[in-house]
Amino acid sequence: MDFWESDDLAAHRDAARAWADANVRPEWAAEQVRTGCHQTPELHARLAGDGILGAGWPPEYGGTDVDLDFARAVFDELARRGVEADGWSTTSMVAHTILQVATEEQKHAYIPAVLRGEMLIALGYSEPDSGSDVAAAKTTAVRVPSDGTGAPPGGTGAGGTGASGTGASGDWVINGQKMFTSTAQLASHVFVLARTNPDVPKHKGLTLFLVPTASEGYACQPIYTLGGQVTNATFYAGVRVPDRARIGGVDEGWSVMKVALVYERGFGSSTSLEQTLARDLAAWARAARRPNGTAVFDDPLTAERIGRIAVDEEVTRVMSLRLGWLAQRGELPQIEGSMRKLFWTETIQRHYSDALDILGADGVLAPGAAAASGAPAGGEFEHDFRAAVVTTVYGGASEILREIIAERRLGLPRSRRA
Ligand SMILES: Cc1cc2nc3c(=O)[nH]c(=O)nc-3n(C[C@H](O)[C@H](O)[C@H](O)COP(=O)(O)OP(=O)(O)OC[C@H]3O[C@@H](n4cnc5c(N)ncnc54)[C@H](O)[C@@H]3O)c2cc1C
Repeated sequence: MDFWESDDLAAHRDAARAWADANVRPEWAAEQVRTGCHQTPELHARLAGDGILGAGWPPEYGGTDVDLDFARAVFDELARRGVEADGWSTTSMVAHTILQVATEEQKHAYIPAVLRGEMLIALGYSEPDSGSDVAAAKTTAVRVPSDGTGAPPGGTGAGGTGASGTGASGDWVINGQKMFTSTAQLASHVFVLARTNPDVPKHKGLTLFLVPTASEGYACQPIYTLGGQVTNATFYAGVRVPDRARIGGVDEGWSVMKVALVYERGFGSSTSLEQTLARDLAAWARAARRPNGTAVFDDPLTAERIGRIAVDEEVTRVMSLRLGWLAQRGELPQIEGSMRKLFWTETIQRHYSDALDILGADGVLAPGAAAASGAPAGGEFEHDFRAAVVTTVYGGASEILREIIAERRLGLPRSRRA
């Protein structure tokens, strides 16, 4: 097996670097750390404008002729520069789900708008009492007669055709609360998992809706997390949406969720945490001196620890390449995504712990304090250490991913009751 990149891919990496040089402002990475908002609207507009968001999508839904490998190389390059695009990650997960399960009319209404950068979609699955057990959602959606306004589901111009013909009838009124609705502070829509039938087993009474954040009765409040990221609680008090905002069949939300979760775990794009630590730590260790004047990197134990980090980063990269390869073959990476997510999140937690050991007392200074004292790398290690902690929670907690791998790949008995 040859893990070296093809010449084509290397050429795309050069082009992606040039694109980022021309389009990515150096201050954006620090701005994301400072604000906790892992999405930069100006960058999103540039990615859309240059057709990068549309790479690999069918032309009939607004796909562009930008090469998918180039687009991937651009997102890798953003990650290397410490710039995240979480809003695009969640939006593309939902758009992929729409492509798989929605009506033709909905695909034409939503996907081109997504690829033009006009729609940003947050995930409204988790609730105060249901995270891992996401099917226990209590937020309700009740069908009511249409109020006759025919309000389009678009909000920002998307899906605003007012067209019918989806078998649509009536409206839905949504009531409840979602937790950790990341990037909702910028989103045009939330993909809301709601209970439409309380009288059947929990997995059988769920439905998904694309709710415009401009809707009356919708509210969003920030939640500050340990990792520095600001996510949100979102509230739905009598939010009314037309039936064509429903994605998938009534009470068939669990099969829609199965598709959506595969995309969440299987196609999660690179993040800056997963590929920069060995490089940054080695650079610091080569420059930093021990009291006896030798470079920190000259200590064999330190060099070995950094080497192990580099190996794990490489394993993660290869697992990500495998996902890309499966996607190119048109396959849904059912288990491979969970394997990659479990591997990289658990290893980076160990890595950042190692990093703080290697850096010593200065390593735990926060960015502001570190800048003042000249501590290593302006405090970014301390920030990334905290950010690594929450990675084993979102997108499926480690215990849940272990269960999925154990049951579906290793054939072990089911450990949870439905
Ligand atoms: C930074 C951040 C961003 C997030 N963004 C989003 C988002 O955009 N949209 C969204 O909908 N959600 C989001 N989430 C929510 C996330 O998906 C949930 O936090 C996660 O699913 C865990 O749910 P919980 O917090 O309710 O914990 P719980 O499900 O209560 O889990 C608590 C602990 O119990 C363990 N556990 C639970 N069930 C089992 C079991 N059956 N077997 C063994 N162990 C178990 C878990 O692994 C965990 O260690 C985000 C969370 C964070 C921290």
